[in-house]
Amino acid sequence: MTHWTESVAVAARSISARTVSNAGGLIVVGYLFAYVLLDWASYIHPVAPFAITPWNPPSGLSIALLLVFGLRCTPVVFVAAVLAEVVVRGAGGSPIEIASYAAILSGGYAAMAAFLLRGTRFDPSFKTLRDLVIFGVTAAVGAMGVAVCYVSAHVLAGAFTWNEFPEYALRDWVGEVIGIMILTPALLIHGPALARTRRWRLSGAAIVQALSIVAALWVVFAANVTDPSKLFYVLFLPLIWISVMNGLRGATLALVATQVGLIVSLQLVGYGARVVVEFQLLMLALAVTGAFLGMAVDQWRRAQDTLRTSEAELSAVVSMAPDAILILDGAGRVIDANAAAEALFRASSGGLVGSSVAGLIPGLREPFESLQGREVRARRFDGTTFPSEVSFSSVPIGERKAYIGIVRDTTRRKEIEDRLRERERELDRAMRVAAAAEMASVLAHELNQPLTAALNFAQACDLMLRRGDAEQTQLAQTMDRVVAEVSRAGEVVRRLRDLSRGGSARLDSAAIESLVDASMQSLKDRFQRHGIAVAIKVVSGLPPVLVDRVQIEMVLNNLVANAVDAIVGAKAEERKISVEASSDGPAFVRVAVRDSGPGLSPAIAERLFVPFSTTKPAGSGLGLSISRSIIESHGGRLWMEPQPRGVAFLLTLPTTPSQEPPK
Ligand code: ADP
Repeated sequence: MTHWTESVAVAARSISARTVSNAGGLIVVGYLFAYVLLDWASYIHPVAPFAITPWNPPSGLSIALLLVFGLRCTPVVFVAAVLAEVVVRGAGGSPIEIASYAAILSGGYAAMAAFLLRGTRFDPSFKTLRDLVIFGVTAAVGAMGVAVCYVSAHVLAGAFTWNEFPEYALRDWVGEVIGIMILTPALLIHGPALARTRRWRLSGAAIVQALSIVAALWVVFAANVTDPSKLFYVLFLPLIWISVMNGLRGATLALVATQVGLIVSLQLVGYGARVVVEFQLLMLALAVTGAFLGMAVDQWRRAQDTLRTSEAELSAVVSMAPDAILILDGAGRVIDANAAAEALFRASSGGLVGSSVAGLIPGLREPFESLQGREVRARRFDGTTFPSEVSFSSVPIGERKAYIGIVRDTTRRKEIEDRLRERERELDRAMRVAAAAEMASVLAHELNQPLTAALNFAQACDLMLRRGDAEQTQLAQTMDRVVAEVSRAGEVVRRLRDLSRGGSARLDSAAIESLVDASMQSLKDRFQRHGIAVAIKVVSGLPPVLVDRVQIEMVLNNLVANAVDAIVGAKAEERKISVEASSDGPAFVRVAVRDSGPGLSPAIAERLFVPFSTTKPAGSGLGLSISRSIIESHGGRLWMEPQPRGVAFLLTLPTTPSQEPPK
């Protein structure tokens, strides 16, 4: 025996030194000690002198070790089994027998741990029911394998006959399963906390729970009934109570306590092996019930927590949402509304609940879920109405049908749209006015011709009449030409009158950014439709310019619109327009509009600023000439610069002389 102890100690030392670190060494020694101690304490009703007992906690300890520290600990388990054989049972068999028994135990436990860790995605912290089921089934089947091999090995070694095999195999299986089912989950679940805890403190509830187990054991064994197993069900009561209160954490500890109490009680009363095995089978039922009940309670609590969290998140999102949210029952009555909805409908807090959606949004009828982005007029609690856009969708709340709806106040959007339309109209009018003015100057030039001709013809007639030698026909012909020229001039004047409308320029101090922004508004839709990227760069700190806002916006709008036309017309790959504003000396600001279009067509290059020069089928050819007149009337310049790609139109505008802030 001395020889055995020494060689085992040497093996243990070498394994601990090789496979694990110093802290690991402590764990190995602690495990070996605990294994031997548990084996010794549970060495009751053995199939003497073999380790076939109806309660075998070292199995649970070994599987916990292998699951936590890995399969490399298998040799340690082997050493523990040999050590227990030597220390507890005095190494009754030959070294080969003892080594093969230890190999069966350590190999069996390692196989179970390997299956759990590698074959399944088992989580040793028992988070889900799946973990528990996998663990229970592995324990039951694995223990069966270990028991069959272990008892068979004893039969082969001549310890007993095959006739005794079924009874002993059952006893061993029960011992193994109970050991694993009760100890392993408790160690895996409480182990990390145990390792961390420095000071032990028992809560009042834990003491009462422990006492309830003691009381139940007392009822079972002290009632003095002939067959105490009939009263075993009493042990379920504290376990169920503890499981419901504390989930799987409580259940695992309660099972360890009940098992220890049960074994102690059985020993104290002195029952035989058969009764102990019978009790252990009942204990197995208790372990399965406790574990599953504890797991069910945990999962229910987790589900409750998740539900509470998601409900809290949802209600936070709904209450913080900037849009008005209404939740309606199947009949279209408000069952809940967020703060934005109360503010929108001018209702008091909670005041919307119970009101009918038809009262809030007149004309709204089922099926509500078909309403998506519908524009309607909604009515506030004070009777005023506002334009809104509503969308509803149906959501099942339990068995009932409900609707969730979003109501968006579109008053501001409508105002902006109206203002934009108004601005477009203004721009349009200004364009016509400017076109007419330009026309006037062009036509004045045209008028000059017929009027001069008419004057000449009239003077000729006058001369003929004075000389008195004119023939009637010649006179009449010359008068006809006078009439024709005057009619031509009249026609020009008539056309001019039709076109000439509008007023004189109104100069204001304006920030260049605001002019550029305003001139782009009506074009945004075209940029988007044609995928044109527009970059606006305004050098900071530019002084305000002194301009007629509408006219300058019109010029900028015309230049950018021309750039869009050029890019789109040429189906250009690169679609970029840049508008840059910088200073041009102390008295001017310079604006450049560049595009990535095809550049000027040669046909137009020479006559770009000449009225009626256009390359567009529906073009007027007046835009650039009017723009130049406008800019020049402001004292600035407008010119074109060809670019490697596309063209640039540049203009200068006078800055406001005083330091007035821009409007
Ligand atoms: P319209 O746009 O009615 O034709 P404009 O006076 O604004 O009148 O423009 C005159 C012509 O100048 C256009 O028809 C076009 O051929 C040319 N043009 C103006 N801007 C550009 C540009 N950015 N790229 C290429 N050609 C341009």
